[in-house]
Amino acid sequence: MIYLDYNATTPLEPRVKEEIIKTFEEFGNPSSSHKFGKKAKEIIESARVKVAKLIDAEPEEIIFTSGATESNNLAIFGRTLCFNGGHIITSSIEHPSVVNPCKQLARMGYDVTFLPVNSQGMVDPDDVKKAIKKDTILVTIMHSNNETGVIQPVKEIAEMLAEKEIPFHTDCAQSIGKVRVSVRELPVTMLSIAGHKFYAPKGIGALFLRKDFFIKPLLFGASHEKGLRPGTENTPYIAGVGKAAEIIYEEFDEISKHLLEVTEPLLKGLLEISNAKLNGAGSPRLPNTLNISIKGILADEFVERLSQKVAISAGSACHAGVRKPSYVLLSMGLSEQEALSSIRISTGKFTTFQEVINALEIIKQELNKIYCASTNS
Ligand code: PLP
Repeated sequence: MIYLDYNATTPLEPRVKEEIIKTFEEFGNPSSSHKFGKKAKEIIESARVKVAKLIDAEPEEIIFTSGATESNNLAIFGRTLCFNGGHIITSSIEHPSVVNPCKQLARMGYDVTFLPVNSQGMVDPDDVKKAIKKDTILVTIMHSNNETGVIQPVKEIAEMLAEKEIPFHTDCAQSIGKVRVSVRELPVTMLSIAGHKFYAPKGIGALFLRKDFFIKPLLFGASHEKGLRPGTENTPYIAGVGKAAEIIYEEFDEISKHLLEVTEPLLKGLLEISNAKLNGAGSPRLPNTLNISIKGILADEFVERLSQKVAISAGSACHAGVRKPSYVLLSMGLSEQEALSSIRISTGKFTTFQEVINALEIIKQELNKIYCASTNS
């Protein structure tokens, strides 16, 4: 079985697993002042340093959460609920964990602008600038898209917004571990991280919250995580995401080189298929993500046909299961039919060249079967 769905989630890195198992021994409550508590606290603070280092942040700017969904909600509601209304700018290609908080804010009476993207899947920074109103209280635009891998012009947007002192949040769930991200070079106010996209377990993530920027908590309890994420910390998973961040930091050059080395031949092979088209071509893209439309297939059926041999995705895994064309691809101007015939293939650091060759062979065989069946019928 070949796994090519790393954007859905990544396997657990063995060294991260080891770290987590080791940390299960440290059962103390990090808030306790005795030796057991102090040890757990130490582990959490060490993980915070590692996550911060990965994105060039300061440790105090890292809030541990359960993942990017929670980080996105905390950033969006935490900021906007400081006001009784106001204007929010986002894009039409965000993950549901940004789209739905924004829709909820619209239902609550906030004014929300959903910006379009061009045919290459990119938001235009000029559109962001033009959309700003006197009462714009937040802009949230993703760092890279989960379906197409298109990297958004967040640096340009962040710099423009920093000048105007408008807070900017970016959902960075898909970029960490694939491209370098520095919150010093990228003057964002808040940035969401998901551990399970870079070889840590599901259910752990972080929000980068720039020093001195105030947001409201969504949960009320004790003072954990600066009062923004109350509840006794999940010490083993926090240690795990710290270890995952450390590995990415130390091995980044090797990992990114590897991603290109396995993804480029895959793209080349896929484009040899007649009627195949890369979505987002021409835009800067993550080195591991391919979104391909193949005329004559129904992506969800095709994914199912492959499912015992090669794991890929039709649209994004989070909303698979329902045959609805991807709103991301529709926003890029693809027809409904093109969107329904688009597959996402995403590689990772454990993908081997041989797996890529084998996957290409299997994909081509299955396509031939579909084409033969349709010409015979
Ligand atoms: N944002 C993006 C861009 C994603 O791809 C995902 C997961 O697929 C999420 C947010 C949600 O992350 P989590 O599963 O950690 O809540």
